[in-house]
Amino acid sequence: MLRLGFHLSISGGVANAPAAAEREGYGAFQIFASNPRSWKHSPIDEEEAERFKEIIKSRGIVPFAHVPYLCNPSSSDSLINKKSTGMLIANIESCNKLGINGVVVHIGSHTGSGENTGVKTAANTIRNALENTEGASLLLENSSGYRNSVGSKFGQIAEILDKIDSDRAKVCLDTCHAFAAGYDLSSGAGVGEACDQFESSIGFGRLGVVHLNDAKYPLGSGLDRHWHIGKGYIGAAGFKAFFKQKQFREMSFIMETPVNKEGDADTNMREARRIAISAVGEKNVY
Ligand code: MN
Ligand code: MN
Ligand code: ZN
Repeated sequence: MLRLGFHLSISGGVANAPAAAEREGYGAFQIFASNPRSWKHSPIDEEEAERFKEIIKSRGIVPFAHVPYLCNPSSSDSLINKKSTGMLIANIESCNKLGINGVVVHIGSHTGSGENTGVKTAANTIRNALENTEGASLLLENSSGYRNSVGSKFGQIAEILDKIDSDRAKVCLDTCHAFAAGYDLSSGAGVGEACDQFESSIGFGRLGVVHLNDAKYPLGSGLDRHWHIGKGYIGAAGFKAFFKQKQFREMSFIMETPVNKEGDADTNMREARRIAISAVGEKNVY
């Protein structure tokens, strides 16, 4: 089954996210396991964790987490690197308590040290975090190709995965970021080509989750600006072609679309669901 869901807030308690997913009928969701703008990691409340696990189990909902934005595995600054490693470890441990199997991480920015150094540093940081934990996997998210960002091209992500050399290093594919990085997901031909490139470099066996976002700016812009499903440069035809790829039949698709006005999440879910159903049929969409 192809699962649709959103990034959800945990304000008021971590179990509020699966409760909202249950209420809205989402097949998957994503949370920040701690404050996204802080280095401080808040511990997981045991009772909340139990409620969290009970909801996802009884409803068969797949949860994901996202590491806070401050984390930068590609940074050569030793203090940032140390803090980033600690943050990855703390996030993996929180995920283990919540029954979350995958936590998304931005490969980050080399901040001027160059791509080769960035690739090596990112691989070292992530390997270090994985070696000091067990359980949840880290899902490396492809970047939009903005200045100094590492991992906008599938080949470069494959290189990082090779260096990490762990089954717990996987990938999160963000459609907006891929489009901004030059992968044309707006047509059937473009989607086919991008998927072939993904398969031959990374391999779909390594894909843990998709971030389903339309793009506010044209192909190859390098800009990380998400837009409403079907209303951006990827468009409904692009997403339909995307959903049709047979590698996605059991995949979770998490939207991180903007909320410009009340009800935007509902509108985006309706549109994503409509497109997914038109591609694979109602019984194959959660
Ligand atoms: Mn992200
Ligand atoms: Mn994303
Ligand atoms: Zn983004």
